Amino acid sequence: MHPRQNKHFSADGTIQQVPNPKQVAVLLSQHIGAGCKPQVSKKDKVKAGQVVGDTNAFVSAPVHSPVNGTVKDIALQSHPVMGRAMAVIIDTDPADVTEKRPCAAQFGADFDESAYSAEQICDAVRQAGIVGMGGAGFPTRVKIEPNPRLPKHTLIINGCECEPFITCDYRIMLEWTYQIIAGVKLACKAAGCSTVIIGIEDNKPTAIEAMRAALADSTDSEHIEVVPVKTKYPQGGERQLVNSLLKKFVPTGGIPPMIGICVLNVATCAAIAEAVVTGAPLTHRVVTVTGCAITKPGNYYVPVGMQVADIIAQAGGLTEKAAKVILGGPMMGLAIADLETPITKASGAVTILTKEAIYRAKYEKRQTPCIRCGRCLDVCPENLNPTKIAHAVKNNLLDVAQQYYMSACIECGCCSYVCPANIELTGYIKTGKLLTARAKEKVPV
Ligand code: SF4
Ligand code: SF4
Repeated sequence: MHPRQNKHFSADGTIQQVPNPKQVAVLLSQHIGAGCKPQVSKKDKVKAGQVVGDTNAFVSAPVHSPVNGTVKDIALQSHPVMGRAMAVIIDTDPADVTEKRPCAAQFGADFDESAYSAEQICDAVRQAGIVGMGGAGFPTRVKIEPNPRLPKHTLIINGCECEPFITCDYRIMLEWTYQIIAGVKLACKAAGCSTVIIGIEDNKPTAIEAMRAALADSTDSEHIEVVPVKTKYPQGGERQLVNSLLKKFVPTGGIPPMIGICVLNVATCAAIAEAVVTGAPLTHRVVTVTGCAITKPGNYYVPVGMQVADIIAQAGGLTEKAAKVILGGPMMGLAIADLETPITKASGAVTILTKEAIYRAKYEKRQTPCIRCGRCLDVCPENLNPTKIAHAVKNNLLDVAQQYYMSACIECGCCSYVCPANIELTGYIKTGKLLTARAKEKVPV
């Protein structure tokens, strides 16, 4: 599909530092897999970078405090995906507000990954709590660690950023280019891959040029290639990108390592480089604050756990016409009702829209019954039957929804986007997945 890009709101500004907020809420579940258990107690003093949540589970990642401060509480907090989840709420120490800054200046063309062993890289990635920063939040150590049953040969780096409005990956490709390449080399070594392909959509020629120029400068980078891919949505879906670049199919419901491929996002690679070289955990990320109802759209370097309200304030505040705040982009993001929702390691954007923009985009008419046009089936990149799944969820038949492969849905939003009856198909499917996870007691009710 080709939804309107709307990248112009934020694409041209450089990444901006923000002051530490007065309070952060570090969610204990920010990734796919087991949530963390708190490692601190109420009233404890914590230092920036200190582990505040962890678990022994294999598929998990620790969470760290992004600030110096005092634990105010460990309590339920609004969660962008799960509704509510436990969080460590930390009051920032007003006397010690040292702000973390990006470390891109430390990386250059001469970066040499041979100083680090594969084991050291995997350990550093695990200790830094790195998870997929493109939105999925899958623990990175699990992805890159060698697995004798599923050996990997190709590393794909996802620089597509196909979701409308979002430009955080675009900006870091321009501003943190050598840091990304250092992370790519380290991930390649850890995963034991021989080939690396960096896929970037062809609507980002300056990013393609910057990455190619940096690779041409870099030592030992002959095995890394930048390949432009067509601008279409959802080109940045893991399975869709593998197919575009290699003409290979990842089995439905499966993962790329099943066919020897590891896929990482560019921001994740930058975090790997920082963790391995400087030892810094993943406590900050670049977030695009964008849309037609925010005063100063741009890309901001913010602490993980900062509340959406504080991020909006740093971007100059909402305009009078603001009607909807979405954590993420308009296709895959979720509208939030609570502006105290903290961002997670996987939150790449806050998009704020006016009523006019929402109406123009879709809601000119109210939802009407399905007219059996089949458009949702035509556009589904996973070849699912969205209307059947949504109908099953609506009638609380979660097992029937699962028979239609509900869990294989990548939540791209294409079906909702094209539906002439304005049925929120993706919304039903997301709800179905959440209810299924709750039934299995994987997330709190
Ligand atoms: S959101 Fe809709 S179109 Fe996208 S994968 Fe899921 S069912 Fe298919
Ligand atoms: S696109 Fe909408 S109206 Fe058409 S078949 Fe799918 S759910 Fe029904």
